[in-house]
Parts: sequence; C-alpha cells; structure tokens
Amino acid sequence: MQLTPQAHIQYVAELAAKRSYNEPEFLQAMHEVLDSLVPVLVEHPEFIEAGVLERLIEPERQIMFRVPWLDDQNKVQVNRGFRVQFNSALGPFKGGLRFHSSVNLSVIKFLGFEQVFKNALTRQRIGGGKGGSDFDPHGKSDEEVMRFCQSFMTELYRYIDEHTDVPAGDIGVGAREIGYLFGQYRRLTGRHESGVLTGKGKGWGGAEVRTEATGYGAVFFAQEMLKRTGEDIEGRRAVVSGSGNVAIYAMEKIAQLGGIPVTASDSSGYVVDERGIDIALLKQIKEVERGRIADYAERRQGAHFVANGSVWDVPAELAFPCATQNELDERGARALLDGGVRIVAEGANMPTTPEAITLFQKSGILFAPGKAANSGGVATSALEMSQNAARDRWDFDHSEARLQAIMRDVHDACYVASERYGRPGDYVLGANTAGFVTVAQAMIEQGVV
Ligand code: NDP
Repeated sequence: MQLTPQAHIQYVAELAAKRSYNEPEFLQAMHEVLDSLVPVLVEHPEFIEAGVLERLIEPERQIMFRVPWLDDQNKVQVNRGFRVQFNSALGPFKGGLRFHSSVNLSVIKFLGFEQVFKNALTRQRIGGGKGGSDFDPHGKSDEEVMRFCQSFMTELYRYIDEHTDVPAGDIGVGAREIGYLFGQYRRLTGRHESGVLTGKGKGWGGAEVRTEATGYGAVFFAQEMLKRTGEDIEGRRAVVSGSGNVAIYAMEKIAQLGGIPVTASDSSGYVVDERGIDIALLKQIKEVERGRIADYAERRQGAHFVANGSVWDVPAELAFPCATQNELDERGARALLDGGVRIVAEGANMPTTPEAITLFQKSGILFAPGKAANSGGVATSALEMSQNAARDRWDFDHSEARLQAIMRDVHDACYVASERYGRPGDYVLGANTAGFVTVAQAMIEQGVV
C-alpha cells in the first residue's frame, strides 16, 4: 500500500536523518524543501511511486580528496577538497566552489541540494552540484593561493568538463581563484575549454554581468515582490550583511534604484553609514586591497564600526542577508521586525534560520528564499556557458536585461506555484514546489537512474 504524502515525507526525512546524522546543515536544507511538498505529492502520487524523494536526497556522486600544497615557508599544508555532484537530470552539474575554514561535507551537501532546485527555477537546463575546501584564503599570499588552486584542480579536473560539471565561485572564490583554477585545468588537459568554469576573466571567456549578477538579481527579485504590492525600492533604507561579491553588488543595485544601503559587514563586525554606503570605497577596500570592514569606517566620515555586533539591529525597511548560512536568527529577525522591516530577500544561501523564517511569515512581511532570490548568479553563469559554446560575447546592457527578465520569470514561477498550492505570496512554498516539480518530472521521464 502506498504511504500518504505526509507519511512518505516523514519516512524520507527519517532515512536521511539516519544516514546523514552528522550533517546538520544538509538536514536543515532538506527539511526546508520536504516541509513544502505535501500538496505536490497529493497532486502527483506518481512521484511517491517512482521514489523521487529517496533519489533526490542522495547525491549522484560525492568526491573527497587531499589537497597538499607548499606555503611561503616551504612547509607542507594539507586541506580537504570536495565536489558533490547532486543531480544532473536537467543538465550538467552546476554550482560554485567555496573556500572557507568552515567547509565540510555537510556544508557542501546543503549547498548542492539547494542548488538543484535553484537551477531548476532558472529554466537554464543545468543540474546541481557544489564543491570547495576548508582552505581559508584570508591572509594568504597570491602565490600561496595559486599553489593551492593548482593542487586543488590537479585532482578536480578528472571529474569536470563543459558537458559534465561546471564549477564557479562562491565564498572565498572570486576572479583570482577562478583564473588560477582555469590555468591549471588548461595545462592539465591541453585544451582551452572555456565552458568548464564560469566567472572567468572577461578577456578569456568570462561574461559581462557575471560579477554583478547575484547581488543585482536579489534586488531585482525584491523589486518584483514590491511591484505586486504597488511599492518600490526608491527612498527606502536597506540593511545588507556581508561585504563580498553578493553584498557589494546588491548595494550597488539598491543605490541605482534610489534606495539607501546603510550597512555592510564581515566576520569582525559591521559598519553603519547613514548617508548610504560609498560603493566605490567599499570595492577599493574589499576587492582591491582585500582589507577589513573596519577600514571603511576609518576612511569615511560619519560612518561608524560596531565590533562583533548584529547588523540586524539597524532599522530599515529592506533587509538583504548576503554573507553566510544561519547568520539571521530569531533574535535578529525580532530586531528587524522592531525596526520596521517590510521585505527580506536572501542574497546568501540559507542565511535565515527556520525559526526566523517562521517569524517573518507569521508577521506577514515579504520573504524571498535564497534559492529563488540569489539564482541570478547561476543563471548568468548559464548565459556565460551559452556564450562560450557559441564563441559569442554579449554587451553589458543586453546581459543585464537578460538577468532582469530571468529574475522576473523566477519570481513569477514562485508566485504562481504559491497560489497553486494554497498560500499566495509564500515564496518559500513557491520556490520549493516550482523547483521540485521541474526536477521530479525530468527524473521520472528518464527512468530509475
Ligand atoms: P565572498 O567571499 O565574496 O563574501 C563573503 C562575505 O560574507 C564576506 O564579507 C565575509 O566576511 C562574510 N562572511 C563569510 N562567512 C562569514 C561568517 N561565518 N560570519 C560572518 N561573515 C561571514 O562570498 P560571496 O559574496 O560570493 O557569497 C556570499 C553568500 O552568497 C554565500 O552564502 C554564497 O553561497 C551565496 N551565493 C553566492 C553566489 C555568487 O555568485 N558569488 C551565488 C549564489 C549565492 P569575511 O571576509 O570576514 O569572512
């Protein structure tokens, strides 16, 4: 006898908890999706029959490897490398590489799992994967970063190519690291295979707007949510966390649309700048000098630095968590609500804890989950792959217009799914169900593999 949707979901959750008991981040990401799926399984009992959920929670392949390298003192260092190829039903595995001391298999699996549904939402025909290492680039010389990247790629190159798996950047992996990784791939394979990595330099296959895409996309998504209620970003204050790739370009787009981004942060604390963050200065400190956020307050009159504080204590109508997972907890959510927040759009992956999401939803504010709101990055990576395959190059305006259109479509797909499954405006439900149905249908059509 077939289980009811509720019982089936509980069975799958227990299966995962048993197998992955030491992977809390992965289980958190999995629960967020499973908890949305009852109405879908009621409508599609064939998904239960075909064991779609049991297959979805198990990556197609998980690769772990040793990354030995020599530091500037000629001392041997050893890190651990990961690539989790989660699901390729829609296309080659696609997802970034994260270099951060907190990286472990659980973190990479949560990111890979999210990526499957996010990539489905973009409709760009890409599967989901993620990788990285517990290597921490902070404080390392360029030469050390290069030697690490070369060693990392010396193992990873066996598992990737433009039709199989296409990595990109994430925390700790930007243009510099992608350059070193690509150089080593080219050397090992003897091929200039542009489509094997995205986020490349613009002179050798990189796409316009890829750098800006995740941050810009999150703001475009927020703009679409506001449009539905007849509102706009113009004139509104925004709190943004982080000061990396996603945060900087979220701030840039907020400012271009007439909003006022008043904060930026890193793991040492946050700055408040009531006049609006000076984006050029922030880029100089973070992208060029690779400095700390406290440097910003020292160089900008009127701005102040709060060591180790919570950026969510700063009142604003818009909030964009753009740093890392679980950075916005229930306490932070209460502080944001007290400060009059109207909309929270996740630039980072899973930055909001489940308790904080519940609080936002109960309070009736607009909440955009990362798998929808930050999908502009991977969507533009897919556009980079198209341009590489066609040996073509689009200009900035055309690329940005494509990004904006994709974010509108992702928003609309989430909204329509939220209506269809009974809670209009619940973007968590909408993103999870719309992404899931696309992947599940492809998996059924391709048989039990
Ligand atoms: P960056 O490395 O460019 O920046 C990360 C920022 O977050 C830095 O300011 C960093 O500060 C801060 N941060 C990282 N970890 C912590 C922590 N534990 N506590 C406090 N602050 C922290 O990364 P990205 O901007 O690329 O990525 C940010 C988020 O967006 C991640 O969740 C990533 O997965 C997600 N994302 C990124 C995409 C992209 O295209 N880059 C695409 C989709 C999602 P510090 O320097 O002190 O560590």
